[in-house]
Amino acid sequence: MDLSLSEDERRFASEVRTWLEANVQPPPDTEDLAEQVAWGRTWQRRLAEAGWVGIDWPVRYGGRGASPLQVAIFNGEYARSGAAQLVNRVGINLAAPTLLAHGTPEQCTRWLPAIASAQDIWCQLFSEPGAGSDLAGLRTRAEKVTDGWHLHGQKVWTSYAQFARYGLCLARSEAGTTGSQGLSLLVVPMDSPGIEIRPLVQITGDAEFNEVFLDQVFVPDDHLVGAAGRGWAVASTTLAHERGTNFPFKEEVVHEGYLARLFAEAARRGALDEPELSDALVDAYVSLVVLRTHNWRTLSNLARGREPGPESSWVKLTWSDMTQHLSQAALDVLGADSPLWGRWSRQWLWSKSASIAGGTSEVQRTIIGERILGLPREPRPRAGA
Ligand SMILES: Cc1cc2nc3c(=O)[nH]c(=O)nc-3n(C[C@H](O)[C@H](O)[C@H](O)COP(=O)(O)OP(=O)(O)OC[C@H]3O[C@@H](n4cnc5c(N)ncnc54)[C@H](O)[C@@H]3O)c2cc1C
Repeated sequence: MDLSLSEDERRFASEVRTWLEANVQPPPDTEDLAEQVAWGRTWQRRLAEAGWVGIDWPVRYGGRGASPLQVAIFNGEYARSGAAQLVNRVGINLAAPTLLAHGTPEQCTRWLPAIASAQDIWCQLFSEPGAGSDLAGLRTRAEKVTDGWHLHGQKVWTSYAQFARYGLCLARSEAGTTGSQGLSLLVVPMDSPGIEIRPLVQITGDAEFNEVFLDQVFVPDDHLVGAAGRGWAVASTTLAHERGTNFPFKEEVVHEGYLARLFAEAARRGALDEPELSDALVDAYVSLVVLRTHNWRTLSNLARGREPGPESSWVKLTWSDMTQHLSQAALDVLGADSPLWGRWSRQWLWSKSASIAGGTSEVQRTIIGERILGLPREPRPRAGA
């Protein structure tokens, strides 16, 4: 197998690197989420103006029509440059691929440019108090009214809802249906009358996610994505992209940098001979190499025009294990007297959410068992039990 880049690909990588070297700035040193978001919007707008956001989107929607390999090259260069992650992650990683796969050309034209520039931040209104892993058990209702829909219900854990202009909302639009039948995906303007957003504080001390209450919220007909009643297929696209198949090479380059710094720090402290510590570092390294190998395979599937499938569960699982191992190893290496302790203990706290957000590790293991390994299906609880 030849993994070397062609001349065109090397030229593309160099173009990306040159732009990033001239433009990347460190984010502000603040713990205030609103300030971080304001800075993130300015940074993302700058990237978008230079044509470096949504590079794989069609040119008519502001993209470059980049190939999966070019996206991977871009992701690697972006991570290596140390640039901050994009503030409108839900817009770019979830909403955009969902709109491109299921939206009308008019919806794509209307919404994609402002997603790229972070003028409109998006959020994902899927989880509910009684429907997380069992998303199809959701109870939020979409009731058909003249020219649109009325939403009634409650969502929870909605990241960035307090900054969002639009939310991708999965709701039950056909009364009397259960499970994945009779759902619809609607784009909700988050400043609509009837929406109440209450922030929830996480163990890191930030309040990135929220409860969202919907009381007779009007959503116009042209905000329905895909066909009414077929929302499960639309939401499945969102979930496949959320689980990571769309960002090969970004996370591993970021983690490679962290790991190299930790090895150096452990060596400086003469700690590499401590068996538990070296085991933790080697574990993190092995996960990284396995993820990279898998990403090459994913990339070759994407290059053949295949959509991300159940293998995204494997990426999600490996990434969350890796991030948790690495955060633990960092605390073991650094010790509480290190000036970097504060940053890493916060990262350690954050890493706990990695095996929950976007679908828990238990659920990913079930998907891998059933849909990749072909094992017998897990018993399903009775409907309503
Ligand atoms: C930081 C963060 C950000 C988030 N952002 C968003 C967002 O923006 N939008 C959004 O819609 N949601 C968001 N979520 C919600 C996330 O998708 C859910 O938390 C997740 O799907 C799990 O659902 P749950 O919390 O209801 O847990 P539950 O589904 O109640 O699970 C509880 C426990 O039971 C286990 N379990 C459940 N079912 C099974 C099963 N069938 N087999 C084996 N074990 C099982 C789970 O693994 C877990 O350990 C976010 C979550 C976090 C942590």
